[in-house]
Amino acid sequence: MKAKRVVGVLAALLLCICMIMPVNTDAAAQVRVRTVKGVTSSYTGRKSYCYVNGQKRKLTKYPIFKKSGAYMGPVGAILKNSKLKVKATAKGDKLTLTYGPNTVIVRADSRIAVTNGQKSTMGAPVVHGTYTATGKRRWIVPLNSVCTRLGINYKLSKGRIYISGTTQSSSNNTTGSTTTTTTKPSTTSSKDKIKIVIDAGHGGSDSGATGNGMAEKNLTLAIVLAAKRSFDKDSRFQVSYTRTSDTYPSLSQRAKLANNKNADMFLCVHINSASASAHGTETLWSKSRNSATQKKGLTSKTLAKAMQSAAVAATGFTNRGLVDRPNLYVLKHTNMPACLIEYGFISNKKESARMKANTSAYGKALYKAVVNLMKKQGKY
Ligand SMILES: [Zn+2]
Repeated sequence: MKAKRVVGVLAALLLCICMIMPVNTDAAAQVRVRTVKGVTSSYTGRKSYCYVNGQKRKLTKYPIFKKSGAYMGPVGAILKNSKLKVKATAKGDKLTLTYGPNTVIVRADSRIAVTNGQKSTMGAPVVHGTYTATGKRRWIVPLNSVCTRLGINYKLSKGRIYISGTTQSSSNNTTGSTTTTTTKPSTTSSKDKIKIVIDAGHGGSDSGATGNGMAEKNLTLAIVLAAKRSFDKDSRFQVSYTRTSDTYPSLSQRAKLANNKNADMFLCVHINSASASAHGTETLWSKSRNSATQKKGLTSKTLAKAMQSAAVAATGFTNRGLVDRPNLYVLKHTNMPACLIEYGFISNKKESARMKANTSAYGKALYKAVVNLMKKQGKY
C-alpha cells in the first residue's frame, strides 16, 4: 500500500517537471543547417511533413524550420519532386524556379526574388546549405514567399502546411520573360497589399465599339477612372492601370503589365456591341485557364461571378451571365485570375444612354465588388 503511494507521488512530481520544462529546449525540435560559407545555425519550428496537393509529404530527413518568422522548406522534396513539378535550375548561388508561365529567381542568403522580371523582398533569405543530420546540401526557401510568387497556394492551418497548385506535366513553358527588368523594388509594407491591374478597354487610335454618338474607349475610361477614385483612398490595395488617359497600350503590353506586377487579379472593362436590340451585361472569362491562373485561393470563375453580379446590380440590365472566351488575348496571356466585364450594348439606344450617365456609379460598384470578394475570401 505504502509503495503504491510513493509511486503515485513520484508520477505526480514527474508530471509537474514535464509541465514546467519549456518545449523549445527539446533538441529534437531543432534543425541544424550549415551554410555554404561554413556557418552552422540551429532553427526551431521543425515540421517533418507537409501536404502537397492533398498528399502528405514526409520530410524526416529535410524538415521544415523557421527562419526570420518564415517557414523554410527544401525545394527538391516539396516543389520539384512533388506533383507540382516545379523546374529548378541552380547555377552558383543562383536558383531559378519555373512553374507554368512564372519564373522566380532567388539567390543564397538573399531576400530578393525576381518574379517575371519584377524585384520584390521575401519574408526570409534563401538558404543554400547542408542539413547536418544528413550531410546533404539542399536549397531551402521561404515557402510562403516562393509559392505565392510562383502562383502556388500556400496555407498554414492549425500548425500544418498545405501547398497546392496545378499538377504539372514535365512541359516547360517559358512565356513569362525574365529579360525585361523593371527595377522598381517593392517595399515590405506593400507586400501584403492586394495587387490589382485594371484595364480600360481600347483607347487612343482604337475607339472600340461605337454607336449612338458614343465610343467604347471613353466609357471604359470613365468607369475605370471612377473606380480609381475609390481605390486611391484604400491603402489595402495596390492598383495599376493599363491606361488613365486616351492612349492605346497594345494587348501584349496590357497582359505584360499584369504579369510583371505579379497581380492578384486582372480586371478588364469593356462595352458590348451588336444589333440595336441586343441588351444586357455579361462577363467573359477563360474556363480552360481557370485552374492554371488561380492565385491565393481565387479563381477566374469566382472573380468573374462576383464582377458579373456586381455589374448587373449596378446597370440594372439583363443578366447574360458568364461567357467562356478562351481565345481573348488578355485572358489567354495573363497568369492570374482575370475577367472582362461587358457592361452593356453601345448599339442599344437605351443602354448606351444609361451607361453614359452612370459611369461613376459603375466604377464605385466595381471597387465595392472587389472589397466584398476579398472579405468573402477571408483576405481581411
Ligand atoms: Zn471592347
